[in-house]
Amino acid sequence: MKLSFRSYILELKNPFGLAHGTRNTTAIVLTQLEHKGIIGYGEASLPPYHGETQESVAAFLSKLELEQFDNINLTPNPSPSRRGEPDASTEIAKILSYIDKVEKGNNAAKASIDIALHDLAGKILRKPCYELFGIKTAEKKLSSYTIAIDDLKKMPGKIKEAKDFKILKIKLGTTNDEEIVKIVKNETDKRLYADANQGWSDKVQAHELVHMLHENAFEVVEQPMPVNCAADDMRWLKEKSPLPLLADESVKRFSDLEKATELFHGINIKLMKSTGMAEAHKMILRARELQMKIMLGCMTETSCSILAASHLASLVDYVDLDGPFLINNNPFGYPELIEGCVITPEKAGIGLEF
Ligand code: MG
Repeated sequence: MKLSFRSYILELKNPFGLAHGTRNTTAIVLTQLEHKGIIGYGEASLPPYHGETQESVAAFLSKLELEQFDNINLTPNPSPSRRGEPDASTEIAKILSYIDKVEKGNNAAKASIDIALHDLAGKILRKPCYELFGIKTAEKKLSSYTIAIDDLKKMPGKIKEAKDFKILKIKLGTTNDEEIVKIVKNETDKRLYADANQGWSDKVQAHELVHMLHENAFEVVEQPMPVNCAADDMRWLKEKSPLPLLADESVKRFSDLEKATELFHGINIKLMKSTGMAEAHKMILRARELQMKIMLGCMTETSCSILAASHLASLVDYVDLDGPFLINNNPFGYPELIEGCVITPEKAGIGLEF
């Protein structure tokens, strides 16, 4: 199994303003895994606040000794006991378990291998990735489109730009959140999600703002308070909140999930945090058991990791897969977008087009 990778810079259509800063580009690394002449594609997206860089991803990927998996069997097993259904998940799990032990952290770097591996396995088995996860039909799901923090005068224009989407995710956590909401409500009657990106440090203020959002028909609020806020404050807010509160920055991997049930109604799962599709799927199943709400989100990403995520979209409550639509230089074909739904390809693998 041969790994190659290259760095790339995504240029954002609009400055991407969040409660903790604004940026115009996102660094990524694109990976390729080749096995028996077939290529799987992957991606690591590296927003600065997650701490990984193109250099750290390159250093991590360079340590991997994937030749040891040259004889791995990803071909369909003809045994009647398997009813002809291929099951590559055990083989994939073996490789992912090795990768996870090479070094701690490096979640996006690990995701870039996980995605390429699932793409490869799907292509070898001639199955779309969702079938590798036991999903029979990929349901069409509406995706939200992010309206980042910007000059208030620019907000109406940005909302107009989002014409192909039926749900907007409004970034908040500023000193003028009420003003932003007023502008949004004047401009559109679309369905709305909110993301405070840890921007509300005071629980009483957070409580008032969540109520204001509820009165304005918002459906869900992501990460209202800082990751390191007092647990008692977040517990208090959860109990009093009229809207589901989702953990984003507070939950990265499966191991973070249980403790979040106390403080949040749900989680935002992103492949770049979860180390890829396999662990994201495991998190979805466990979150369901814990009766948590589930959003499937993304960073600014190309079609590669967005399509990968779309294979799990049938299993979640809220889909936020707008990554490629926020950038100017997506190196791949755009995902199909029909009436606000990001369509999961039925082609083998993740279904990336060139
Ligand atoms: Mg978020």
